[in-house]
Amino acid sequence: MSRRVARRRGQRKLQRVGRAERRAAQAEVEAALQAEISGVVQRVVEQALADEVTALVGRGRYERRRVATPARTAAVCSGCQLGWTTRLWRAGSYGRTLLTIPAAVRVRVPRVGCICGSTVRVELTTIAPYERSWGDIQTWARELSGLCVSLADIREIVARENGRTLARSTLNGWVHQVADLAEALRRAPVTRVPPVVMLDGVWLTQLEPTGEERTDALGRRRAAKRRRKIVLLVAYGVDPVSGEHWVLDWHRATAEDEPGWRSLLERLLQRGVRTDTGLTLLVHDGSSGLDAALETVHFGPGLLRQRCLFHVLRNIRDAARGGPGMDRAASAPRCQRDLGHHRSGRDPAPAPALPRHLARPRARRRRRP
Ligand SMILES: [Zn+2]
Repeated sequence: MSRRVARRRGQRKLQRVGRAERRAAQAEVEAALQAEISGVVQRVVEQALADEVTALVGRGRYERRRVATPARTAAVCSGCQLGWTTRLWRAGSYGRTLLTIPAAVRVRVPRVGCICGSTVRVELTTIAPYERSWGDIQTWARELSGLCVSLADIREIVARENGRTLARSTLNGWVHQVADLAEALRRAPVTRVPPVVMLDGVWLTQLEPTGEERTDALGRRRAAKRRRKIVLLVAYGVDPVSGEHWVLDWHRATAEDEPGWRSLLERLLQRGVRTDTGLTLLVHDGSSGLDAALETVHFGPGLLRQRCLFHVLRNIRDAARGGPGMDRAASAPRCQRDLGHHRSGRDPAPAPALPRHLARPRARRRRRP
């Protein structure tokens, strides 16, 4: 129970801090924080680069060359074609601007020289050759694009974070690399075979050029586009213990039909998703195309199949609610038609429809050989 506390006498109310004053103070702290973050990013990246060179030449900074034990390195001198640790030395550094999510920093990239006087080309793992932006920022830009954020908005978001504006063409290049990355992902074997695979069709609207041109509101000539419905047949991996879901593979199709589902299932099988690698259960929406495809693609003995409970409940809801724009009275006949024949005897509740839907997968479960 709350107790009312008596206000102490003689205590004055606090002076209100003005909004502008507070904002100015916060901006000052933010700037200090950003400077501090930039310093940390620069220090950590430079330390990682220095550690790489130390590992390469086999001795710490200011340690004499003779101290190092002679060993062949991965680096090769461009002059003498040798790469022994005892021939290599630290040859200063050059500056490079590096763009990361938290900050844009200027880092010193170490150079390596050889006692013959030539420079030694070293491929560092911390920064790729000619890399100006780090992988984290590229991944982030692709994620934002995946969430349908426009290139112009991605530019704003990234610039707000680290203070540097990226060229739209750079961002566009990163986003277009997604197709290649996705293709590489889908060619590789599935390293983490989930115990449960969930199959579902996701309908999307895609804009495709009609081949004609039109003039937009600002008077610019633009390619005319029309909307086209496409479906992505998606296989999700599910961890039943943690509840984690992730995308395993997908197939673009124009309908949720048997050929589409079959190509997705065949690729999953090719990539190593089988019962002997850990798959135990397939959850699906019970569409006829998928059912037919599952009859032709076999993931191994003992595979269980289950209809997705969510889809069953949604189908019942749609049948009971009627079509869009229909009132409850008008939709009643349809409701009765869809649900009525599931009722047994004088039982007035539509609930008995559920066990029938749920019983379907049991009857369709594949026989064990
Ligand atoms: Zn040399």
